[in-house]
Amino acid sequence: MSLKVDEKKGYFGEFGGSFVPDELKQVLNLLAEQFDHYKNDPEFIEEYKYYLKEYVGRENPLTLAQNLTRNLGGVKIYLKREDLNHTGAHKINNVIGQILLAKRMGAKRVIAETGAGQHGVATATACAMFDMECIIYMGKLDTERQALNVFRMELLGAKVVSVDKGQGRLKDAVDAALNDLVENYQTTFYLLGSAVGPHPFPTMVKHFQSIISEESKRQILEKEGKLPTAVVACAGGGSNAIGAFAHYLEEESVKLIGVEPAEAPTLTEGVPAVIHGFKCLTLLDDQGNPKPTYSISAGLDYPGIGPEHSYLKQSGRAEYVTITGKEALEAFQLLSKVEGIIPALESSHAVAHAVKLAKQLTKDDVIIVNLSGRGDKDVEQVFNMLKV
Ligand SMILES: *Cc1c(COP(=O)(O)O)cnc(C)c1O
Repeated sequence: MSLKVDEKKGYFGEFGGSFVPDELKQVLNLLAEQFDHYKNDPEFIEEYKYYLKEYVGRENPLTLAQNLTRNLGGVKIYLKREDLNHTGAHKINNVIGQILLAKRMGAKRVIAETGAGQHGVATATACAMFDMECIIYMGKLDTERQALNVFRMELLGAKVVSVDKGQGRLKDAVDAALNDLVENYQTTFYLLGSAVGPHPFPTMVKHFQSIISEESKRQILEKEGKLPTAVVACAGGGSNAIGAFAHYLEEESVKLIGVEPAEAPTLTEGVPAVIHGFKCLTLLDDQGNPKPTYSISAGLDYPGIGPEHSYLKQSGRAEYVTITGKEALEAFQLLSKVEGIIPALESSHAVAHAVKLAKQLTKDDVIIVNLSGRGDKDVEQVFNMLKV
């Protein structure tokens, strides 16, 4: 199958693009040009790889989940261990890439928006290390619910701006960050956290997250001498999933499966629409506005999804399934108990689907589950959910 992707313009079939005011478009065009240049620059690549190794701790293992494999009848289940990265998830891969680009472009300030706070913490971490001024926009409601993450960001030297407009949620924080960018683009870099937003962000985030499948493909060929039957990853905005899929897109024998929360089934039930400056499949309410979603994992609560996933779904190259909060919670406990690995609630959605899938496959099959993050951040929430 040949995929209709135009990375230069940021179109994935009919999805993607850049639906923003002219002044912002100019800023994004400049960013696209610079990204295009540096992504092929040997020194830039070397520096990116250096920090991934020395700061993030890559490459991380592709661990055979021995007990899970045995319990499920012998289908080999491998876990790609993004949970072992510094800061405990895949988000840092992208943050390091973008901050190196920001430095090359001469930026002095980095701004970002965050909902649950995980992208804000990853950004604040890298800004501390690279000595950049860091401003994190966060909806007022989210700052109240995620007080500990606000404190983490402040410890790391970031300034957290609580956005009181609108509903005080992620969308309002995005608007505030975009306004800041338009006003201060000469000194400021907007560091976006998932494979969403107007061009070039989806392409750029995919590029930096592709390290996941670059490694996993090499690792699985070393361990099994063949490609996996399936790669399974959870999808919120879609960055860990697109990174986990990237190097298998052209390998038609490999099934690519994205897992959404049943409470935010963007790809399963969404319709094509423009939100936040790009076109994707998205959940709309009766008035045609992006619909607020309520999943147990804050990191998967986004009414839209990256444009490339929208296209992979439409073209049939990838398959998207849903997992309920209850199933994710069971998988969270299962992996903890049998493998001694506490997964993030987001990643637990992928684990839950892999368990279902394993029951339909045979001993000759191999599944890679992208373990996008570790679950320490979720332990208190799970404690409260299991208590009632
Ligand atoms: C943020 C987050 C996600 C969801 O984001 P994607 O862009 O869809 O990858 C998934 N897992 C973890 C652990 C996260 O922190």
